[in-house]
Amino acid sequence: MLTHYRVTGHAPPTDTQVDAWLHELRGHSAGECHAALTVLQAQHHGRITPADVIDRIRIARAHPVTHLPVVPAQRRAGITRERATAARDRGIVAVYTAMGWPLTPDRDTALQVRCPFCKANPGHGCGPLTRDRLGRRERRDRRTGLHPSRLDAARTSTEGTAR
Ligand SMILES: [Zn+2]
Repeated sequence: MLTHYRVTGHAPPTDTQVDAWLHELRGHSAGECHAALTVLQAQHHGRITPADVIDRIRIARAHPVTHLPVVPAQRRAGITRERATAARDRGIVAVYTAMGWPLTPDRDTALQVRCPFCKANPGHGCGPLTRDRLGRRERRDRRTGLHPSRLDAARTSTEGTAR
């Protein structure tokens, strides 16, 4: 390790130096020493001593890495609002299935029509709109996540086609 990190410069470490380092670094794992020496070699200018290594290990032990850094998901090209909405809808279906909740058939039916309230296109879930430009208020149905007028519209249209 001493040779690898060139702790004794270009000359190989002597037996006395190896003994001294071994003695001083007792109780510190090889992994800790490697990690410390890597940091010290990058930051330290001049001769590295066992005390430097122990200091570095003490700092590392006091600040353990408890979580991995959060790597932001790369915004991939081509992800449109429509695809995001479709993914959300698939997620809703997955959650309902996993929880054993009945996926109401009227939701599927209602998804086939355009929402008269929030203007969500067929195949897409309703937006979070609660008040439209005409001042009408509507909250999405908790069970289906769709606006009630859309459910009504779907019911009306299926009744129409049934006749
Ligand atoms: Zn809607």
